[in-house]
Amino acid sequence: MGTFRDKGGLWENADLMELATPAGFARRPADCHAFYNMRRAKVRSCQPNTAHLALAALQQDPRADVTLITQNVDDLHERAGSHHVIHMHGTHLVALCAVCDARWPAPEVMDVDTRCTSCGGPARPDVVWFGETPYHMERIAQAVAAADLFVAVGTSGIVYPAAGLVRRAAKAGARTLELNLEPSKRASDFDDARFGPATVVVPEWVSEVMG
Ligand code: ZN
Repeated sequence: MGTFRDKGGLWENADLMELATPAGFARRPADCHAFYNMRRAKVRSCQPNTAHLALAALQQDPRADVTLITQNVDDLHERAGSHHVIHMHGTHLVALCAVCDARWPAPEVMDVDTRCTSCGGPARPDVVWFGETPYHMERIAQAVAAADLFVAVGTSGIVYPAAGLVRRAAKAGARTLELNLEPSKRASDFDDARFGPATVVVPEWVSEVMG
């Protein structure tokens, strides 16, 4: 799947951008559900790529202590074999009650009639929308502060607080590396960088690290 902000990416459509907000969901819940139903169907037909697989292999290496923090809302890291993935922007594979915060596995298709089994409130995808606070920030801050090496893969460097993590890592003494198709907005914050498709640069870097 393309990233949101690539040229031709999903968010080029300002309408969709408006939908990914609590207000957009309140105004147009059916359109919002239709958008996430489409994404859920699409990700179910996708397989983890070589970058996902390489990161899972690194995480499974007993010599490595890897915390995987992702802005992705799909489950491709898990399907590649990664464990304890921190989804800072949630996942559309989980449903969230907009009233009582109950969570359950999202059905393939959600609509305005999808209701919370606890309180009957409207269900929404468990994704962090614009204007909402990302999940697990305390755990992420601890992991970043403890890191020897901070690697950012395939991110625009636009969306905060994720975009600010490189500076926090550097301040705490970590080396920093950007693996990206092209320099991100935060490129000057990194010690090192390698540019190219994630499916190429990530496996190359992982095989060097694992020797
Ligand atoms: Zn509820």
